[in-house]
Amino acid sequence: MNHRSLAFRLALWYTLLLSATFALVGIGMFYGLQQYLHASLRDSLRRRSVQVEEILAQGSAGVSNADISEAINTRVSPEFNNRFVRVTRAPGSLIYRSGSPADRSFDPQAVPPMSYEWLNTNMVRRTVTVQNQRLMVNATRIDTPSGRYLIELGTSLQSIDALQDRLLALLGLLLPALVICAAGGGYLLVTWALRPVDRMSQTAEHMSMQNLEARLPVVPTGDALQRLSMSLNHMLTRLRDSVQISRRFLADASHELRTPLTVIKGELQEIVGGDAAQGEVRERIGSVLEEVARLEHLVSGLLALSRLDAGEAQREWLDVNLVELAASTAEQMRLMAEDRGIQLQFPPSAPMIVRGDPSRLKQVIVNLLDNAIRFTPRGGAVTLRTGDSGGDIVLEVLDTGIGIPAAALARVFDRFYRVDEARSRDDGGAGLGLSIAQSICVAHGAQIEVHSEVGHGSCFRLRFPPIPAGAARPARAATPQMRSVTGAL
Ligand code: ADP
Repeated sequence: MNHRSLAFRLALWYTLLLSATFALVGIGMFYGLQQYLHASLRDSLRRRSVQVEEILAQGSAGVSNADISEAINTRVSPEFNNRFVRVTRAPGSLIYRSGSPADRSFDPQAVPPMSYEWLNTNMVRRTVTVQNQRLMVNATRIDTPSGRYLIELGTSLQSIDALQDRLLALLGLLLPALVICAAGGGYLLVTWALRPVDRMSQTAEHMSMQNLEARLPVVPTGDALQRLSMSLNHMLTRLRDSVQISRRFLADASHELRTPLTVIKGELQEIVGGDAAQGEVRERIGSVLEEVARLEHLVSGLLALSRLDAGEAQREWLDVNLVELAASTAEQMRLMAEDRGIQLQFPPSAPMIVRGDPSRLKQVIVNLLDNAIRFTPRGGAVTLRTGDSGGDIVLEVLDTGIGIPAAALARVFDRFYRVDEARSRDDGGAGLGLSIAQSICVAHGAQIEVHSEVGHGSCFRLRFPPIPAGAARPARAATPQMRSVTGAL
């Protein structure tokens, strides 16, 4: 369980508040019940006391103790009602004392006596402990023609104490159980209430520059959550618009640049081919032609990236035999490798089918082979191989070249990034080859990764997800013509 999560902290606060509320309710209930029971016991004792007072008040001057006892036994029945009654005539003669109560909860003889003189008011209430039993005793004094009497009337608090103990035990068990249930329920409720936020973050996680139309789910809660999802969606729409504007600008600019570049190239080639330019002029035009070719290469790369960013339609996708495509590409690049004194190897392998655009997939292989050949010194080797690993179809381009420094590995797929700018530019590279390869891989749901060690060589690995069973379409042979890195556009 994540202790810093919103659900946990909300549930914790909720549990603390609930525990405090339950504790207050429990304490209130306990003391409220105690007050109520004591008050009704006091009332009952008061009523019985009044009955005894009436008996004494009605007695004539010479009334006997036996008459008083009999009247009390008949009208108050202390033993039967579990009461204690003691009547003392001042200055200290015992007139009546009730016997053991029916529930045997206390011994009446053990109740410490009071004296008429001790009472400075007409009535005193006290709690005494007799043989570990608490008794509530009401003492009243009354003056009658037959004398001055002290009436003590009491009862055991045992049943009230037992009831309170039971209530305490019940609250002690019930309240923690309730708190635990409420805490669990609260945590589940908060987690459930936060599920829309989870869904929003999952959707946001899967959004990419290839999927600019994706929007967050709008939760119809009518509160801040709904407003948040709607505001984020509005923001995504604005972002999509501005991304589309800059993509369109890039696509238009590179498209517009192609024609004048072709014209310039054609004109220059014509001048070089004719007799008009000789000597140094001819040389200079030759180097301008090289720059024009580099510009053409760059513009084609930008156009390819803008089309890939725009999410090329997948209508052209076919089941492509990757092994056949790799073999034909390697064959077409063999000459370039041999020119540079590099051995290009392609070990045979069983056919492997991937779903995609064959010309774009070929472009990836060309870009990787082109880099491997360019960055491997004379006498080195470049190997192109295919295979499967963990259910994925894998294509690797390995070389024994100069390698890539660890610090640059994370950036080689960035646009316009070149490890060694001077060397790369001399070779005609603009730092777009790997980013084009990566964009094509992303569009095909494939992964591209690189492992490299300076001075030992590099390995670029593509991982294609397997085609789901039953979704295969007829495979097409590899495109017969190999074009330049970006020339397939
Ligand atoms: P460029 O077209 O300039 O080669 P890339 O995007 O293809 O651009 O490659 C980016 C950089 O990554 C290159 O400038 C180069 O320094 C490095 N690189 C790519 N492939 C290799 C490789 N096989 N061996 C060594 N360095 C490489």
